[in-house]
Amino acid sequence: MADDGQRHVRVAVIGSGFGGLGAAVRLRRAGITDFVVLERADSVGGTWRDNSYPGCACDVPSHLYSFSFAPHPQWPRNFSGQPHIRAYLERVTDTFGLRPHLRLGAEVRALHWDGRELRWEIDTAQGPFTAEVVVSATGPLSDPQIPDIPGLADFPGKVFHSARWDHDYDLRGKRVAMVGTGASAIQIVPAIQPEVGRLTVFQRTPPWVMPRADRRITGPERWLHTKVPATRQLRRQLLWGIREMQVGAFTKRPGRLGLVEALAKSHLHKAIKDPELRARLTPDYRIGCKRILLSNTWYPALTRPNVDVVTSGLREIRGNVLVAADGTETAADAIVFGTGFHVTDMPIAHRVTGARGTTLAEEWKDGMAALRGTSAAGFPNFLTIIGPNTGLGNSSMILMIESQLNYLVDFMRQLDVLGDGIALDARRSAVDEWTRTIQQRMQRTVWNTGGCDSWYLDANGRNTTAWPGTTAEFRRATRQVDLAEYEVIRPPRRRPDDEPTPAAAGRTTAEEVAA
Ligand SMILES: Cc1cc2nc3c(=O)[nH]c(=O)nc-3n(C[C@H](O)[C@H](O)[C@H](O)COP(=O)(O)OP(=O)(O)OC[C@H]3O[C@@H](n4cnc5c(N)ncnc54)[C@H](O)[C@@H]3O)c2cc1C
Repeated sequence: MADDGQRHVRVAVIGSGFGGLGAAVRLRRAGITDFVVLERADSVGGTWRDNSYPGCACDVPSHLYSFSFAPHPQWPRNFSGQPHIRAYLERVTDTFGLRPHLRLGAEVRALHWDGRELRWEIDTAQGPFTAEVVVSATGPLSDPQIPDIPGLADFPGKVFHSARWDHDYDLRGKRVAMVGTGASAIQIVPAIQPEVGRLTVFQRTPPWVMPRADRRITGPERWLHTKVPATRQLRRQLLWGIREMQVGAFTKRPGRLGLVEALAKSHLHKAIKDPELRARLTPDYRIGCKRILLSNTWYPALTRPNVDVVTSGLREIRGNVLVAADGTETAADAIVFGTGFHVTDMPIAHRVTGARGTTLAEEWKDGMAALRGTSAAGFPNFLTIIGPNTGLGNSSMILMIESQLNYLVDFMRQLDVLGDGIALDARRSAVDEWTRTIQQRMQRTVWNTGGCDSWYLDANGRNTTAWPGTTAEFRRATRQVDLAEYEVIRPPRRRPDDEPTPAAAGRTTAEEVAA
């Protein structure tokens, strides 16, 4: 195992959210202990460390939104809150002996592929490392995005993003502006509405909102799940199966979502009696095109006397006055941005330089693309967890993460079989073929045809984030590494004095290596 002084490791994992911690567990289980987990923050948890805003909870039931290899019979609610999920990830870290591998405060600033030594050079805030394999688990929703609003820099009040909540700032009695009506905003607004003085919600596009079947998981249920693990597994299977059955409507037959739309409309009608407000809250695009949100408290909160809904984006800020695109002016003491994350422009992509001397961001300028959501061409031994087109609209991301971890373990096994010092680089033709198939399938999906603009789409309007199939299908696609989809890079021959020859490392096919 890597001790504190060791700077070369077999595997460097970047990030300690579900993806990075899961990778660490699976590496250890595969007998690989020579690895570090590089985390920029001072504790583990990723999403569930950073999003501590009032009301933060998962919107996929906890018994599905957790690792299959680390079941938790004691989940307190169907949709457990952020403190519980964060505590779960801390427990996973302890239970699986991951602490010695953690390097906290180790932001990865740059990674370069060394084509002679066939390894990654990694510059971190804790000094340099080298690694044969890099697992990038920096998260699709980990770098908050605040829009470039004219005048924001001169706003005299408090400004923060939902994922960087300032708990030292007292919102009581304040005039607060909530910008955005996405998954975070609809949890925040009902939680802070009772205590703020005035709350103005800036809504560019109304979300579709369905009832949230949340409840406490009772003592007897928890007892049963602890004593009879099969009941817990059954619960998870049911939660999974229901969501798998919904996938076809999202990906192939969006017309069938009409019934779901009717349910969401009735939810809206029951909660909002004022027809004028209801009209402003009614979406004009197909349900599912943007993430369907779950809440029983969002609509009631919007009807409270201290809440205003401005159905227009925030255009500019003049002093402490927020001006919407429709000209509405609102004075505020604080602005909370629930405006999402850098999803299709992953910050880590700017920091990774591959075999051709270009960054991942440069390679992805026309859209993110990676074989089986994991391997980009020209970036040998570099695997992304939750890479391009692995996102889900209706089920647990942990299912996708675990599939990619199966792929990682097989990748490591293939490297062992091929021999020392060998690297695998996804063939461009294989990446292109994979991407072409995904994009073809994407044409029919609700995300592309539903008439909305969402964070699933990149600046070119291409959907490079969502997975257009079931989670079972993705699991099958990532069960094993197909070596035919990779170029095998052999180390350069060495001179007797152990200096590598000037010749570049040899690239070949798996069959040639076997011969
Ligand atoms: C509020 C919120 C609620 C969500 N709810 C759900 C849900 O109910 N169901 C669901 O399926 N998904 C949900 N998601 C999506 C969620 O992000 C994923 O399910 C999952 O947590 C992602 O895990 P991850 O490890 O890939 O990324 P993250 O949890 O984001 O972890 C990434 C880690 O990488 C670190 N990192 C980033 N860059 C660097 C760097 N350069 N150097 C070192 N470290 C770095 C970050 O600090 C972070 O710790 C939610 C997301 C948010 C924001």
